Order: sequence, then structure tokens, then C-alpha cells
Amino acid sequence: MAFSDVFPEPLREALEKVTKIPTYGERGAGRLVYNLLKLSPSERREVVEALLRAAEVLKPCSECYLLTEGDLCRICADPKRNRRFLCVVEESQDAYAVERLERYRGVYHVLQGRIAPLEGVSPQDLTIDRLLERVDRYRAREVIVATNPNAEGEATANYLIKLLKERFPKLKVSRISYGLQFGSVLEFVDEVSLEKSFENRK
Ligand SMILES: [Zn+2]
Repeated sequence: MAFSDVFPEPLREALEKVTKIPTYGERGAGRLVYNLLKLSPSERREVVEALLRAAEVLKPCSECYLLTEGDLCRICADPKRNRRFLCVVEESQDAYAVERLERYRGVYHVLQGRIAPLEGVSPQDLTIDRLLERVDRYRAREVIVATNPNAEGEATANYLIKLLKERFPKLKVSRISYGLQFGSVLEFVDEVSLEKSFENRK
């Protein structure tokens, strides 16, 4: 009997579908699916239904591209947030990491990725045109570039800093990565390091 004969069809299909999620290879898919199956049937249903709901309702904010269930995210919809300060991050989860510090009162701009020539991601694939438009429309005072402190994040930051300074000579452009370990991902940086890098932005 061949291996494919003992492999249940629904399992094969679930594993195959999960590998469509970026960064999920065969091993990642296996970890997700096999561990999901360790839950009770009612817990499995809860997890899958929550994922389905998130997948169906979440979309980028029409202003800043943060994930939202409405048209505007909660930050853009908050009149108390200062639109003259924009913090540029790669993905929504990076903005949430900054939010956890509870000290930043500006708004965000999600690039939806980073410049990665080896993966075919160029500046045109990111939301950079929209960033420039927002900086202009908000008459921004400062843009804080908070891309991840790794090679691609640095390259993206350098590109943005140069572009912003050319377009808006009076704008203050700062970079937070100082004090963060090179190669770390903002989402997982501990709060003390992130807070320090925020205070020491250059
Ligand atoms: Zn928003």
C-alpha cells in the first residue's frame, strides 16, 4: 500500500492550503494543522470560525492601511491622534507593537511590505505614493521610519528617508532602530528596547 493511500484526503487538502500562507512551508503547515487537531472538536470549530471571520472582514484602512473591519481604522478615526506625526511601519503588527508602548499619539502608515529586490518587491509595490500624499495633506511635522532593523528594513528606511527629504525639505525625518538588535523584527522586540529606540530616534 502506497503512502498516499493512507493519507486522508481532507488532511492533504488542509496542509496544501495552509502552505499558500506566506512563510508557511510544509513544516509550518504541519505544525498548524496537526496541533489544531489536538483540540476538541468544539475548540477546533471556534478557531476556524474566528479565522474565517478575520479573513472575511479585515481589510486595509482607506487612509493608513492598518487592518480594520470598517473603512477607517480606530487610530485614523480617533480625533485625538495627531496627524502631523506619521510612524511608517512595514505591517500592521509592527504598528501594534508601537501602540503597546502607549506613548505615541501620532498616526501610522503601513507600507504593506518592504523593498526586497531578491523577492521582486520594488518601491512601486509598497504604499509609498500614498505616504507622500498624506505627508503633504496633513502638513506633517515628523515622519518616524520604523521599518524592521534588518537588511531589507534598513534599505527601505534609507530609500524613504532620502525620498522624503528631497520632497519635503522642512520635514523632520527620524529613524527608530537605534539600540535595537540588528536582525530583530519589531513585532517581537521587547517593550523596553522599543521604547528606548523611540526616545533615541535620529
Ligand atoms: Zn488608519
